[in-house]
Amino acid sequence: MEWFTRKGVVVKGVNLVKIYRTGPLEVQALRGVTVEFYPGSLTVVMGPSGSGKTTMMNLLGGVDRPTGGMVYHGEKRIDLLSDSELDQHRLENVGFIFQTFNLIPTLTAIENVELPMIFAGIPKSERRKRAMGLLETVGIGDKAGHKPYELSGGEQQRVAIAIALANDPPIILADEPTAELDYENAKNIIDMLEGLAREQGKTIVVTTHDPRVAMRSDRILRLEDGVLKGEYSPMDLERMSLSGPTTPTQEGGVYPLIDVVRARLTRVMEEISRLEERVRSGEIRLEEAFNIYQDLKSQKRALEDLLTSLGG
Ligand code: ADP
Ligand code: MG
Repeated sequence: MEWFTRKGVVVKGVNLVKIYRTGPLEVQALRGVTVEFYPGSLTVVMGPSGSGKTTMMNLLGGVDRPTGGMVYHGEKRIDLLSDSELDQHRLENVGFIFQTFNLIPTLTAIENVELPMIFAGIPKSERRKRAMGLLETVGIGDKAGHKPYELSGGEQQRVAIAIALANDPPIILADEPTAELDYENAKNIIDMLEGLAREQGKTIVVTTHDPRVAMRSDRILRLEDGVLKGEYSPMDLERMSLSGPTTPTQEGGVYPLIDVVRARLTRVMEEISRLEERVRSGEIRLEEAFNIYQDLKSQKRALEDLLTSLGG
């Protein structure tokens, strides 16, 4: 991916408060959230509907302003910027990906990707080349001339990722990017986000309801009613799922046990096919793979039994 040269920066929210006022009504969407996100890292934010995830993303990305608190991108306090400074800063430094792919329906895929480059003042010849390169990077170079309605949901979301990446932003914020996709497409999207974190060093934040997506992150934060309620690693999630029939929800977790078990099973099955592939291709010998293989198989059986006992 030679299209990327800028590494991520630390993104920090300090004591973030957001109050929405509509007439006499007041909703406190965030009640003092302090949180940090790191370059080279994929962080997932989970939490029930209405818990403030979108609000937090909007404040972190400078789409909206906090009622109280501070937002840092690296050393820079973006909540102190004027409106026009903030617009410019966001255009150059933040890539957004949304649940509903947000493409302009009258433009082709490549024109959609070029749009943010036009705003950033990138010359026409370079724009085309770069937009094409980005579409190829997300695996849909052959669909460059298609309008959004001629693309599947998974393809539209790939275009949306190319758009988010157009100006090589250090920060990428994805708000439920896989909610409208089946698991296969969701997995592709997460693979890309993971690659951008691990290989390109970007700072990536993803909100999701899907524990299988959460399992692929470096770190999982839980938001509840505008308050940060916990921080987990994917390993913690796995342990919770395997520690018997207690519901992890009581531990401040969200994750219905059955979903977590399913996610773990998916991962084990993926590992099994990867291992089989490596044996087939001669990369490792069967004897070397044997113990790992047995172990994975027994994990798989245990998880399948657990799933059955949970009614899945
Ligand atoms: P989530 O993304 O976790 O579902 P949101 O950040 O969208 O949560 O919403 C948090 C709370 O703020 C909810 O109670 C929601 O109704 C309220 N809210 C969100 N956006 C607005 C808005 N623009 N005006 C008024 N209330 C809002
Ligand atoms: Mg939301």
